[in-house]
Amino acid sequence: MTLNNDKECAWIKDLIPRTDIQTLNGNEDCEWLIIGAGYTGLSAARKLGQIHPDQKIILIDAQLAGEGASSRNSGYLVDTTLNDGFTSNKELESYKKKADIYKLGISTVEKFINEHQVDCDWNECGKYFASSKIEDKKILTNFSKTLSKLNFEHNLLSKVELSNKLGTSFYDIALHTKGGILLHPGKLVRAMIDVLPNNVVLYENSNLISWNKRKDIVTCKFKNANINSKKVIFATNGFLKSLGIKSNYNFPITLTASMTRPLTDNEYELIGTPKEWGVLPVKPMGATIRMTKDRRILIRNTAEIHNPFKMSKSDLDKRSIKQKIGIKKRFPQLPNDIIQSSWSGIVSRSRNSSQIFEKIDTNVFAVGCYNGSGIGVGTLFGEQIAIKASNENTKEIETIEARSKPTWLPPQPFLNIGVKTRLIYERLRAKSEI
Ligand SMILES: Cc1cc2nc3c(=O)[nH]c(=O)nc-3n(C[C@H](O)[C@H](O)[C@H](O)COP(=O)(O)OP(=O)(O)OC[C@H]3O[C@@H](n4cnc5c(N)ncnc54)[C@H](O)[C@@H]3O)c2cc1C
Repeated sequence: MTLNNDKECAWIKDLIPRTDIQTLNGNEDCEWLIIGAGYTGLSAARKLGQIHPDQKIILIDAQLAGEGASSRNSGYLVDTTLNDGFTSNKELESYKKKADIYKLGISTVEKFINEHQVDCDWNECGKYFASSKIEDKKILTNFSKTLSKLNFEHNLLSKVELSNKLGTSFYDIALHTKGGILLHPGKLVRAMIDVLPNNVVLYENSNLISWNKRKDIVTCKFKNANINSKKVIFATNGFLKSLGIKSNYNFPITLTASMTRPLTDNEYELIGTPKEWGVLPVKPMGATIRMTKDRRILIRNTAEIHNPFKMSKSDLDKRSIKQKIGIKKRFPQLPNDIIQSSWSGIVSRSRNSSQIFEKIDTNVFAVGCYNGSGIGVGTLFGEQIAIKASNENTKEIETIEARSKPTWLPPQPFLNIGVKTRLIYERLRAKSEI
């Protein structure tokens, strides 16, 4: 099955279309093959190119590089994520391990953009965890205690303060963390494509169909040709499971988002001319909503089990209506039809929200499953898996490997039944926040 993404992603439409596209048309041999050219695969290729300037490295993607989730996300480079209550020391310890990885993720992206002078609308404005239900103050107070123990700067805000900062009186309570960054995801991943080292060959629109390993060589089969490689890194994130990689430890989830056109001066004044901001929900299935630098509103309020290979136009339209309602609830003073584009994207999830970073066989590596927070972690994991696969070690690898590994998932149909039931439950809990 080939990947068939919708073509409406606003972040991709902001960029100048690329013209230098090469597709795999003949058999190839190489030292290194990376499958998947999002933040992870591109970062692995960049690092391998630096470590092995004389070796042949192939990076290959089923669609255009960077046009998977890496261009389709909401652009929150996170320092923290919210989970309910961290009371015991054990939970605090695992939260710290998670936050240590996020911190390294931020510094890896920061180093990349400084080194290559990347303009990706980087804004160190932090982010809000907000709720329209004052009862959620309890969750935020608990979260605040965890953040204080780990020295994260943050503060709780009331309805009036939020209304001034966000331009909506929808939210009753929020916790603001100072450390998060908002950025343009498409510009970031485009920069990673632009700076690929010379010894990296990029093939696009070339779908991996199957792979096998005989002796020390991995053979990857594509539509028109095969690639034989000494070492392979699988960086297909939401498509790890469909390639049979760590299939009992990760599963794909489809997210959809919409973006409005830029607000007019008049509309912008109507909502109080707020500066750029980003809100994440307190309840997991609530809406992520963001005011961009150029006054567009982005909303993501669906997460579901869906065919990861295709979202039809009519399915996308249905989700877009939910997003229109989500915007109207928060900004009743704005016109009804301001959504300009809607799109879907695939992420990978594990049962315990942990990530995949490992050698799965001699000379075969798998990396991904960022549970919806892959901008920083994907960039970090991509670079570090390249180092690990080169038999070197770093402090970063030690930090990554200190996390708990993803836990085992039941087989189908039990997995889908379990996940769907959980999503329905979470959707009901978050009903007011969608
Ligand atoms: C709507 C949405 C909102 C999100 N919001 C955020 C956010 O605010 N912050 C955050 O940190 N993260 C967010 N995420 C998650 C984030 O986008 C991902 O974690 C991140 O992009 C993962 O990068 P990646 O390179 O591992 O995967 P991807 O970018 O998905 O790249 C994987 C690549 O593998 C390719 N591929 C798949 N199968 C094959 C095959 N058979 N052969 C060849 N190539 C193949 C795909 O075409 C794809 O380009 C969001 C995701 C979505 C969809």
